[in-house]
Amino acid sequence: MADYDSIVRGGTIVTASDVFLADLAIKDGVVAAIGSDLGTAAEIIDASGMLILPGGVDTHVHLEQTGLGPEMCDSWESGTASAAAGGTTTVVCFAWQPKGGSLAAVAADYRIKAQKARVDYSFHLTVTDPTPEVLEVELPQLIAEGCRSVKVFMTYDGVRLDDRQVLRTLAAARRNEALVCVHAENHDLIAWLTEQLVSAELTAPKFHAYAKPMIAEREAVYRIISLAEALDVPIQIFHVSGAQSAEEIARAQARGLKVWGETCVHYLTLTAEDLDRPGFEGAKYIFGPPARTEADQDALWGYLKRGVIEVVSSDHSPTRFDDPKGKKFAGDPAPFNKVPNGIPGLAARLPVLFTEGVSKGRIDLPTFVRLTSTNPAKLFGLFPQKGSLAVGSDADFILWDPHKAVTLTNALMHHGGDYTPYEGYRTQGYPVATFLRGKPIFDGETVVGAAGGGRFIARQPYPMIAPLQRFPTPFNAVEGKLT
Ligand SMILES: [Zn+2]
Repeated sequence: MADYDSIVRGGTIVTASDVFLADLAIKDGVVAAIGSDLGTAAEIIDASGMLILPGGVDTHVHLEQTGLGPEMCDSWESGTASAAAGGTTTVVCFAWQPKGGSLAAVAADYRIKAQKARVDYSFHLTVTDPTPEVLEVELPQLIAEGCRSVKVFMTYDGVRLDDRQVLRTLAAARRNEALVCVHAENHDLIAWLTEQLVSAELTAPKFHAYAKPMIAEREAVYRIISLAEALDVPIQIFHVSGAQSAEEIARAQARGLKVWGETCVHYLTLTAEDLDRPGFEGAKYIFGPPARTEADQDALWGYLKRGVIEVVSSDHSPTRFDDPKGKKFAGDPAPFNKVPNGIPGLAARLPVLFTEGVSKGRIDLPTFVRLTSTNPAKLFGLFPQKGSLAVGSDADFILWDPHKAVTLTNALMHHGGDYTPYEGYRTQGYPVATFLRGKPIFDGETVVGAAGGGRFIARQPYPMIAPLQRFPTPFNAVEGKLT
């Protein structure tokens, strides 16, 4: 009988810290040995000339959320096909409380829908209505079941929380040991600017960026950091779009706070000018916060290199373009403020970031692995099962050809959408195969992972998000006692 189920032979392993030639042996879906002359295996996977990267971990993915009006065009089945085709083996998606409704009921329903997943997954808990029932009964239960992160919005009608509600939610997260993720933009500033733009009849897609300027984001980032600091709660700022917000995060980190930043591939590759495409085409690029300037892109690369921003995710949030249930929900054309926000990005995340980052010499290979796999896994309590190629980790990996040039098309995204913002983009570097727990789920052309092959990952409490025990006064307001 063979020593292992399979051995990946002749490739170059990349981890968060190292790049080295070694073989990888797999048994029962986990990495069993790393080295040379490992023994016998039922199957030999030839990786000559290839990089072996840990499978991508995308901790900001929207799939099959319902009840929003416009329709999300990716189910768990199609969305996770797109993940596999882009080298991503774990996604964290959103169980989203409807206003006035139950978070627990949505999470239970989402658990059933997610049984169609082709990659492994976990859930964030989006709180849109922090009632005592939600904060004191549902949230503790769901967090204990392994959904160890909470999402709050500071903007968008129908989902946003005011500061008092944010504080209550932060306190509940701290009591139950969950990381809070924040969509930070100043709601009233955006609402007022939108009113002014609409009354001046400035409603083309490009005015989306006028309605949501950098200052609206910067202010909210500063405010949420302050609220979290007051309650001693670790937070991650989602989708940092430019220099000014990143600067606030750097300042918070310099004070020793547990504040982490995430950006997305689109903030590194698109600008507000993409909203100004002919006709209604700009609607394809409407997402919030909007893409900024080239100077912001340069600044973000700097913050990525310095480790201030530690995660690059997709914020995959797809609606179809040429569809009355999608971007044309309110007509063609429709005013920018009636166009559903969000773009697809799951499959493009790794190839585009690799091309822009590694192939263009902005970041090295270990940094690429940290940003796309190891850091998100650590921050969200998935490590070392995910985000790592070490003995005992799940054998989730990508065979990656660092030179493969591919012209991106919508078909290559393997998603449910009818466009990709990266149509025609030329990559240098592409996945030639993706493996989940030792089994192929993408062979370079076809998604071969079965719907239902993914597993729910319950996340246990982990030290990275333990509070600092630091309060602005000698009073722990969350527990109601003097410190
Ligand atoms: Zn999002």
